[in-house]
Amino acid sequence: MGFTFIVFILLWLFQILFMERFYTISKISDVEAAASLIIESYENDTPVDFSENLGKIAMENDLCIEIVDRYGRSKYTKEYSVDCIIHDKPNSTYAYQLEIEKNGNYPIWRKLQNAHKNYFMVLHGCALGNTDNPDGYLFINTALVPVGSTVKIIKRQLMTVTFLLLIMAFFISLFVSRKIARPIDNITLAAESLAKGNFNTKFDGRGYLEVKQLADALTYAEKELSRVDRLQRDLIANVSHDLRTPLTMLKAYAEMIRDLSGDNPVKRNEHLEIIISETDRLSLMVNDILDLSKLESGKQKLTPSEFEISSKMNEIIDRFKGISEKMGYEIQFTADEECLVFCDSIKIEQAIYNLINNAINYTGEDKKVFVRQINTPSGVLIEVEDTGDGIEPDKMKLIFDKYYRSENHKREVVGTGLGLSIVKAVLKLHNYDYGVRSKVGVGSVFWFKISARDCKLHK
Ligand code: ADP
Repeated sequence: MGFTFIVFILLWLFQILFMERFYTISKISDVEAAASLIIESYENDTPVDFSENLGKIAMENDLCIEIVDRYGRSKYTKEYSVDCIIHDKPNSTYAYQLEIEKNGNYPIWRKLQNAHKNYFMVLHGCALGNTDNPDGYLFINTALVPVGSTVKIIKRQLMTVTFLLLIMAFFISLFVSRKIARPIDNITLAAESLAKGNFNTKFDGRGYLEVKQLADALTYAEKELSRVDRLQRDLIANVSHDLRTPLTMLKAYAEMIRDLSGDNPVKRNEHLEIIISETDRLSLMVNDILDLSKLESGKQKLTPSEFEISSKMNEIIDRFKGISEKMGYEIQFTADEECLVFCDSIKIEQAIYNLINNAINYTGEDKKVFVRQINTPSGVLIEVEDTGDGIEPDKMKLIFDKYYRSENHKREVVGTGLGLSIVKAVLKLHNYDYGVRSKVGVGSVFWFKISARDCKLHK
């Protein structure tokens, strides 16, 4: 409606207030154009053609034209405008001719009241030919017909147009608010409810395309938020469950030492060993959580160094020697030629460790794990294969997610559902490709590739 008012005020100003001025200006410019056409024709055309042109110009523009010689005698005269100053009485232009001569033949413009009618005339006079010694003088007269009645009509029209525009503006605003603002209002309300933790909020995308897209985006965000929320809750449940077991053990064995085995060095040492290994499990879990939160906070920077990948892999596999021997796991490592790589050794070591740890966790009855280092033109490929149950295709994407753990996992080693998220965070930080191939009932191969730009073949 504000816009309608602005349009209305502009129309009012131009059509009503400035109408008279615009009209006069346009008339003057018509006369100016006619004068220059006449002068051009006077200089170039034969007297017959000139007279004909003069008539045409006078008729087309509603002008009265008079051309006099330097003594004031009329040479050509055309009368198209009624009651003009020129043809009002004989020799009426002579006084103006004298005025032009007195002014050094400089053109004159006059706005004069018509003697008989109650409106104004514009009179223009100028010298013809050489201004120092003119052949004669040209006078043009045009009537400024009063615009009052026209203005009155326009005024009435404007009122009607304004009224109609205001009604239209009202209905358009109503329509726009219904169609555009209301769906956005609804979505805002729904988003507020989502912010309060209501993950069942419905985002209504009716209205138009953009609102539908917004609603879809918010529905997607809601789904993701609710997933993260669920996973986070699962993590707390998992972590507290995993923490409770070692804590109960710690308490039980500490009490046993206090009450029973305190004086028996063999038993006491045995119990102390259990306490130490349970404490190790606890710190492993806490470290996992801390590592991931550090990696994901974005504050963790890489500190790359040069090291030999095969030796590093052997070192990592050696760390599993205890569990391999104790529980009968067999880790087979096959490596291509030794290769110098340039990356963050501590973080890559952790990623490889986590992959092998998972492979041991999830491998099949044969308790075999295969680790491979394959040198390819695009980099060094590291693969960790197990013979376990494999991963269903729809779970493959999820397993790298934070806190995700399959429900039917059987574990020999403690896990928090963070191992693969740490692997993913480390490899993403390095910008290395990674992934998993798996066949249900056959096993899985987790792999990543140290890209060629970070590899140097050993000499
Ligand atoms: P965790 O092993 O502590 O549960 P991870 O992040 O290491 O957590 O792994 C997430 C999930 O991915 C596991 O719960 C398991 O379901 C699946 N997974 C990981 N490694 C393997 C594997 N080698 N074979 C089958 N499933 C695996």
